[in-house]
Amino acid sequence: MEILKISKNDFYSFLDRKIAAKESKTIGVVKKGSHYVFAELDAASDLCLDYDVTILPPKKYFQPPKEVLLKYVPKKPESYVAVNECEPITIVGIHYYDLAAIYLMDKAFSEGERDENYLKKRENSLLIGMYPTKPQKNRFARSVTKDQGRKVADIMLTEIGGNLVVEILTPKGKEYLKDAKAVKNDYSMKELEDARNNVKDDQKLPLAVELVPQYLGNHYEHPVWEHFGEKCFSCGSCVLVCPTCYCFDAREEIELSLAEGKRVRVWDGCMLEDFAVVADGHNFRKNKSSRFRHRIFRKGKHLPEKYGYFGCVGCGRCANSCTADIAGPVKVFNYMEENK
Ligand code: SF4
Ligand code: SF4
Repeated sequence: MEILKISKNDFYSFLDRKIAAKESKTIGVVKKGSHYVFAELDAASDLCLDYDVTILPPKKYFQPPKEVLLKYVPKKPESYVAVNECEPITIVGIHYYDLAAIYLMDKAFSEGERDENYLKKRENSLLIGMYPTKPQKNRFARSVTKDQGRKVADIMLTEIGGNLVVEILTPKGKEYLKDAKAVKNDYSMKELEDARNNVKDDQKLPLAVELVPQYLGNHYEHPVWEHFGEKCFSCGSCVLVCPTCYCFDAREEIELSLAEGKRVRVWDGCMLEDFAVVADGHNFRKNKSSRFRHRIFRKGKHLPEKYGYFGCVGCGRCANSCTADIAGPVKVFNYMEENK
């Protein structure tokens, strides 16, 4: 790993040259009203590295909300063509917890039957991560993530004063930065570590993350599920904004003329009422409380047991987006601890 240093001004000038060169689409965090979103950058001056959290995570670039998978002419099997289009992208300024979520998404979409639509987009992406410089009232990422985000980042940035310390983690990252006006880093590892941890999380899981799968296993039947479930509106916001939720539905869209059809996949989520409806209209998670429990079990038990990492990265988006103010995992585990 190579560690360099670049002034923020020089980094922004470098990004302007990259945007103009159009070798890849440059995406970064931009301000939208009082919130932040990931969007394509027309100029580096639009980029905001000093943000709390974005409304949606960067998963939208790898698993778009709506994506065409197949095109065909109905009733003509020879016409079926798989669609897998993407263009190279560079995403600048992804917080480490969103990188940790991409690490999980990579696992989910590459195991068993490989999802070529997701994986092609990932192969054509370059990820520039960073450590948060602003607090966020519902973030608890430090109590649920380890270093998995660094396993998918090509470059990590840490802001110190007016400079960015640049850790080059992959050959792709090194190639990307080859024309940047970066110099050898002269900050000590302690200064670097302090800067990374400068912004503390506002929240914390009340138990060690390693204990959660067993803990949930012991609390399958607990009043918490009814307590929160009865307040839930089944709006699905918590799962749609979540960086580690990747469930989708596939639908056929056929023109009325029957001249053309498309198979599309769209985001779906286990908190929506009809998510678990199967043949004959049977819904195997009909109650709000069972859907609420399933979501927490998926994050805290099923995914950790499958992949070895907690299935929630502590971004706080679910808590931010929940009208009923019940979706945040910290709130759920606090309630369980208080009502043993
Ligand atoms: S469950 Fe909530 S806090 Fe955890 S990753 Fe998803 S949106 Fe973020
Ligand atoms: S955002 Fe809140 S109200 Fe909406 S489905 Fe999730 S838990 Fe229920």
